[in-house]
Amino acid sequence: MLSYRHAFHAGNHADVLKHFVLCQCLQYFNEKDKPYTYIDTHAGAGLYQLDHHYAIKTAEFRDGIIKLVEATELNQPLQDYLNIIQHFNTLPSLRFYPGSPLIASQLLRTHDRARLFELHPADSQLLQQTFSDSKQHIQVKQQDGFAGIKALLPPTTRRGLVMIDPSYEEKEDYVRVVHSIKDSLTRFATGTYILWYPQLQRAEPLQLLAHLHALDLTNWLHVTLNVQAPKNDGFGMFGSSLFIINPPYTLPKILEKTMPTLVKILRLDDTAHFKLDFKIS
Ligand code: SAM
Repeated sequence: MLSYRHAFHAGNHADVLKHFVLCQCLQYFNEKDKPYTYIDTHAGAGLYQLDHHYAIKTAEFRDGIIKLVEATELNQPLQDYLNIIQHFNTLPSLRFYPGSPLIASQLLRTHDRARLFELHPADSQLLQQTFSDSKQHIQVKQQDGFAGIKALLPPTTRRGLVMIDPSYEEKEDYVRVVHSIKDSLTRFATGTYILWYPQLQRAEPLQLLAHLHALDLTNWLHVTLNVQAPKNDGFGMFGSSLFIINPPYTLPKILEKTMPTLVKILRLDDTAHFKLDFKIS
């Protein structure tokens, strides 16, 4: 039974990293007129209310997007991401945080498409409501994203970006994502895939990365943002990572410039740091 609700975590440091990079990738896709398909295998509810008791309970957004709003010097890529978040708000307050499908919808052109999967009944219904007017352009399905993606690849547009962002509440997700990526690459080798995973004191995230490297991919980028030291009790997420297959060739330079700023803004202690590795041929 699914119990994870992204409403408790929306706008936290992991969302900032994930959604900032998503914006950069979609902006790169937009440099060509040719249409593309955006696929979100784990789309969430769409829009999150930061004054809802779910968000207030954890207040994770205060150590995430709020710190970005309060920062004085943002470079253009970070400002572009913040502008999209602020588009959903009446400034100066920040009451709403858009999730990955809504952020993507701001960057998609009319000839691009989005296919969104969300399994949780309540969140799927919220997502359906958000995109109820979109018709063919943006479609929502209450379906397992790992199964649903198979029928969509390769996309008819022949250009595509796949966001894979499970909650990992079931540890099988660490294995499922690798199987899904392997299968997806046989169907659509040239697609761009963004996989998010948490930094935890458990073996699974390390095993996941080892399995991804074992795929011996030609083009990949791995970026990690750790905002604090792992806790003594062994619990809690101290950072997060993105593994991107077929990333924009421009992304390493953007991240080399931007990640030090994100560390400075989002750091929770002196051990905060980022790591960036890539191979792009
Ligand atoms: N991508 C969203 C964003 O960035 O705004 C957040 C997604 S949240 C981390 C993960 C979501 O996946 C949850 O809403 C959960 O209900 C949903 N989920 C879990 N297992 C799923 C599955 N097999 N297929 C589709 N959705 C699933």
